[in-house]
Amino acid sequence: MSGPTASQGERSRELAAGLRAVRTRVDEACAAAGRAPDAVTLVVVTKFFPTADVALLAGLGVTDVGESRDQEAGPKARDLAGAGLRWHFVGRLQRNKARSVARYADVVHSVDRPELVAGLDRGAHDEGRRVGVLVQVDLDPVPDPARGGADPRRLREVAEAVAAASALDLRGVMAVAPREGDPAEAFARLAALSHELVADHPDATWVSAGMSGDLEQAVAAGATHLRVGTAIMGQRPALQ
Ligand SMILES: *Cc1c(COP(=O)(O)O)cnc(C)c1O
Repeated sequence: MSGPTASQGERSRELAAGLRAVRTRVDEACAAAGRAPDAVTLVVVTKFFPTADVALLAGLGVTDVGESRDQEAGPKARDLAGAGLRWHFVGRLQRNKARSVARYADVVHSVDRPELVAGLDRGAHDEGRRVGVLVQVDLDPVPDPARGGADPRRLREVAEAVAAASALDLRGVMAVAPREGDPAEAFARLAALSHELVADHPDATWVSAGMSGDLEQAVAAGATHLRVGTAIMGQRPALQ
């Protein structure tokens, strides 16, 4: 991949090639699963990449981008207000950042405890907007607190807290495949949790699952939103 000195034209062609390759993978996975290609939304995860890259993606027809750190995502979203992008917050969410994130994020994928809800609701109210929320569940048999996610037994409790907030819309569930084991098995468990959630909350039909390495398994298991970074953007630069 080119470094920061690459011309914008060169970088745009690189991103276009990454997008084409991933869209082909998604289309093939949808065809194999008998799903319509437009049943799956591609969220391009742009964390650690410059705002200029996100602008190029918008120019290439990308509508949904994902970020994972408030201090990076907020300025990017503000710089590109008016570019017609939907901003997805997919990273670990600290309680003291919840209000800030809800001021610019259209969807927060990583709500894993009821304590986050009040701050998110306040941030949405600050801006007079509504914010979509997914409950992140931890599918790892050996929970890793650094990766986040609620114990699946707490899904209902977290969902109820979100549903009770006046400026938040409960949209569904999110998960990251465990480091070990078959992602297909993990995504099947996520699909079962989604069915349980939808029984109580008929509008909460989104399933956010699948990244660069496992998007095919996620599509096969019914994911509605894929969060893909590396396969489109290239290797992430070191922490800025
Ligand atoms: C970084 C990140 C992604 C993208 O991962 P890639 O392997 O680069 O596609 C997806 N989801 C979350 C929660 C992330 O933090």
